[in-house]
Amino acid sequence: MDRAFYRDTWAEIDLDAIFYNVQSMKQHVGTQVDVIAVVKANAYGHGDIQVAKTALEAGATHLAVAFLDEALALRKKGLPLNVPIIVLGATNPSYAPLAASQNIALTIFRVDWLEQAMMYAPYDRPLNVHMKLDTGMGRLGAKTKEEVQQMVHMLKQHTCFVLEGVYTHFATADEQNADYFSFQYDTFLHMLEWLPIKPPLIHCANSAAALRYPDRVFNAVRFGISMYGLTPSQEMKPFLPYPLKEAFSLHSRLTHVKKVKAGEKISYGATYAAEADEWIGTVPIGYADGWLRRMQHFSVLVDGKRAPIVGRICMDQMMIRLPYELPIGTKVTLIGEQQGDRISIDDVAAHVNTINYEIPCTISYRVPRIFL
Ligand code: PLP
Repeated sequence: MDRAFYRDTWAEIDLDAIFYNVQSMKQHVGTQVDVIAVVKANAYGHGDIQVAKTALEAGATHLAVAFLDEALALRKKGLPLNVPIIVLGATNPSYAPLAASQNIALTIFRVDWLEQAMMYAPYDRPLNVHMKLDTGMGRLGAKTKEEVQQMVHMLKQHTCFVLEGVYTHFATADEQNADYFSFQYDTFLHMLEWLPIKPPLIHCANSAAALRYPDRVFNAVRFGISMYGLTPSQEMKPFLPYPLKEAFSLHSRLTHVKKVKAGEKISYGATYAAEADEWIGTVPIGYADGWLRRMQHFSVLVDGKRAPIVGRICMDQMMIRLPYELPIGTKVTLIGEQQGDRISIDDVAAHVNTINYEIPCTISYRVPRIFL
C-alpha cells in the first residue's frame, strides 16, 4: 500500500477548526478589517500550506511569515503569486529582487537597508514593503521621526519600492493590565503622524490585541496563535469574546506491553522503579519528535484513562504505566480527546512551565501531520 508515512505517531490538524477561528475573527473585527494569517514556523507547527489555504478560504487576505525562506516555501508548495505574503522579520537587502519577483513584501525599518537594497535595482516588479515602528517591543522597528522621514523620502524617490503597510507589535496585549498596551498604542498613533501619506495597510494587533481591542486595530490584524484555537495567555482565558477551537492533537500507539514486577526499573538512568506489579506500555515518541524530556511525569490518555509517563523520555520512545493490560496498537493520545477526557496544549505547556505557542512549534518534522 502506498502511504505517506510508516510510523505509529502522528499529529492531526483540524482544518475546520482553523476555518472557524478565522471566520470568527473576521466577524469580530468587522468586514472593513483585513485578516493577515500568521503562518510562520510551519504555521506554528500545524502545516504551512494547508493552514494558509484554509485561512484564505475562510476570508484571510494576506499571509505573514518570519523569514523569506518561509514565504518562498509557500510559493513552491503552490500558493499563487497573487496571494500577498509579508515577511515580518529582517531580510538581507540583497534578497530584495528575489522577494519582489515572488510578490513577497518585506519589513523595513532602517534607511541603510533601503540604500543597500537599491543597489540591486531594477527588480522584475516593485517590492512591497511594510515599515515597522518600534513603539516599545524593543525588537525591530524605527524609533525616531528622523529615521521615519528619511525612509519616506527614499521611498518617494525610488519607484522600485511600494509602501504597502506600516505596523508595530505589542509586548503586553495579552496581559490584564492595559497600561503598557495603551502606551504603545498611543505611541503608534503619534508616530503615524510622521507619515505624510498613509499606506493602504495599517496594522498593530496580534491575536490578543485583536480579541480584546477590536476597535483599536486600524484596518488589518495579524492573527497567529488564536487562529490555531489557543488563547494568547492564561489570564485572557475567562475574557475571550468568543470560543476558540483547538486544531492540533497528537497521537501514537502502543508498540510493546509488558508486566513488570515491583522494584523493576524503567528507562535510562533506571530512575523509575515499579511501585507494585505493573503493566508498562512503550510508546514510539521521544524528544527527537519534540516530546521533550521535561514531559516526564506528565500523563497521556490510553483507553480513555490517564497513564503517567514513567522513567526518562528517550530520543524516540517513552514508557507509560497502563491502568491494566492493553493490546499492542492501542491508541495513545498525548494531546487531544479520548472518551470525554481531554489533554489540551495548555495542560502540556503548564507542565513544562512554558507558553502554549512553544508546544506545537516544538513537535518536530518527524511527526507526520494528518489534515482532517
Ligand atoms: N506579528 C508579529 C510581528 C509577530 O511576531 C507575531 C508572532 O509572534 C504575530 C504578529 C502573531 O502573534 P500571535 O501569535 O500572538 O497572534
